[in-house]
Amino acid sequence: MKIAVIGSCMVDLIAYTDTVPKAGETLVANEFAMGCGGKGANQAVAASKLGADVLMMGRVGDDAFADNTLANFEKYGVSTKHVNKVPGVSSGVAPIWVDADSQNRILIIPGANMHLLPADLHAAAEELKQCSMIILQLEIPLETVYAAIDFGNSNGIPVLLNPAPASTELDIDYACRCDYFVPNETELEILTGMPVGNDDEIAAAASTLLAKGLKNLIVTLGDKGALWMHGDQRQHVSAPTVSAVDTTGAGDGFIGCFAAELAADTDVATALGRAVSYASHSVTGKGTQTSYATVDEFAKWQS
Ligand code: ADP
Repeated sequence: MKIAVIGSCMVDLIAYTDTVPKAGETLVANEFAMGCGGKGANQAVAASKLGADVLMMGRVGDDAFADNTLANFEKYGVSTKHVNKVPGVSSGVAPIWVDADSQNRILIIPGANMHLLPADLHAAAEELKQCSMIILQLEIPLETVYAAIDFGNSNGIPVLLNPAPASTELDIDYACRCDYFVPNETELEILTGMPVGNDDEIAAAASTLLAKGLKNLIVTLGDKGALWMHGDQRQHVSAPTVSAVDTTGAGDGFIGCFAAELAADTDVATALGRAVSYASHSVTGKGTQTSYATVDEFAKWQS
């Protein structure tokens, strides 16, 4: 069955420099790298690498970055029929400076991502209705996220919402209408206004959020794995101990894998275990989408 990811496409523009320039200063940096990202795109690519049939719905700009993003989706087998260019607007880009101490300074310019509007769902309605799951994040307009939840609900399609980046503007009633709500610890902290410094605090914050009426709350916990809560059930899945090289995009890998497993009819507990393991594998490699394993690579790593 098909997975629809309705979300963001970004291009990371990474400059590696010993020192960052002050206002008015020009410096020569060491290296430059460009990478495809955006939470939506990352999740789509992870699911596709695991063999899922993925339809991406998003917006890119009227520039060379757009062609790069489209080519990247095609390389990974993600359908781009509903990734459209918006005339006169830039693609979503993230200029990043990484200094000698590996400190990041990141600017996010959402660009075309903010032009994915509720009305755009109509154009893709027939194909969306064929999907077994809709995946959403918060890097597109909130009203589009809400419209996609409405669409999923009225067509009997399960919806997974990854509330990232965290927004206190998110209407919790919409979150409760999703089948899966998947924040990380920081997002849990921002959404509840409660501390998440230790296991008890995390459990208390998660319980408070669940009590608002969420169906399935899954909190990803970095090297501690993930916590799944539904009704009065609670299950913790530990992450394997790995040598972490780059944790960027681990949460997106987790969601891509979890969705791919559910689309393949795996039960939630098993899907969760695989998603934790898949995301943990991803932190052992550099980059974001490049660190996601294919089905074969993942199977080999697990054996
Ligand atoms: P995000 O990338 O959104 O911040 P997390 O940090 O919670 O998300 O990580 C998502 C998943 O990635 C975790 O559930 C875990 O499986 C894996 N992971 C992240 N960091 C590590 C780590 N240092 N060691 C092992 N697994 C990790």
